[in-house]
Order: sequence, then structure tokens, then C-alpha cells
Amino acid sequence: MKQSRDASCLCGAVLIRAHGALRRVVFCHCSQCRKQTGLYFAATKVADEQLEVDGQESISWYQASDFAKRGFCRICGSALFWKVIGSNATSIMAGQLEQRSGLEPAMHIFTADKGDYYDICDGLPQHERSTGDVPVARNNRVCAKPRLARPSAEHLALG
Ligand SMILES: [Zn+2]
Ligand SMILES: [Zn+2]
Repeated sequence: MKQSRDASCLCGAVLIRAHGALRRVVFCHCSQCRKQTGLYFAATKVADEQLEVDGQESISWYQASDFAKRGFCRICGSALFWKVIGSNATSIMAGQLEQRSGLEPAMHIFTADKGDYYDICDGLPQHERSTGDVPVARNNRVCAKPRLARPSAEHLALG
């Protein structure tokens, strides 16, 4: 079965089509992803030969390290791609895909660098650094239930 998914940036200057099966979504909490997005990356991945991009002239590439570069729309600022330099595959920000994407989540990486204002509570595997390292459970605590989410019976009785 031929399968393809469409994606675009916020303003629509960049149109993306990915063919074939896409990787499960990896959430990256590293400081670079945090700075670029204000939160974290949620990225799938596709081989370059299965990727079509319309609007290349609207894409700027920022090389944040000697390892990888980050593609974004220079008009609306949407983060679009992450690519290891010299590789033949491209990570695509899952949020740019039209819904429903049908994608499944895989794991969290670089959790050691995540912002301190949120917890990761979805039960997915967490890695302090990249996936090659030993997974740890440092941040993998059970999320507390929100307090006072709903008035208790006792509360209501007092009213
Ligand atoms: Zn755009
Ligand atoms: Zn990252």
C-alpha cells in the first residue's frame, strides 16, 4: 500500500510530503531543541529519497553544532527539520503533519536537559542523553494527581 503524509509550516510557504512508513515520534528535550522551540522537539524521520519539499527557498538552515543542522521557515519561524550533516535521512517535526498523522510515540531523549517546569508522565522510555546511553528513570516518576481538581464530597458538605 502506498502511503504518504502531508505537512506544512504555519504560513504554508513550505509544503512537505513524506512517503512510506515514518519512524515513531521521538521527543528531544535537549537545550538546543528547548531554545529553538520554547519547549521540546517531537520528531519523526524519513529517508531523503522519500521526502518531497516544496518551497525550499523559504527554508533557512541553522547549524547549531558540528553534528547537525536545523531547518525552519524563514517567514513564519516554524521548526521543520533536523538533519545530521551528511546523512541521507531527515527528521520532520511531527507537529507539522496534517492530522490525523497515525504516528505512535517512541521515547524521550536528553531528559537531563529538559525545562524544570514540566514533568514527563506518559510512561514512555526516558533517556538522560541520546538513545545509545543507559536509560535512567531519574525523571520517570509517577505524576501526582492535580490537587483540588474537583471538590471533594467533604468540601461540598461544608458549602
Ligand atoms: Zn512558514
Ligand atoms: Zn534536541
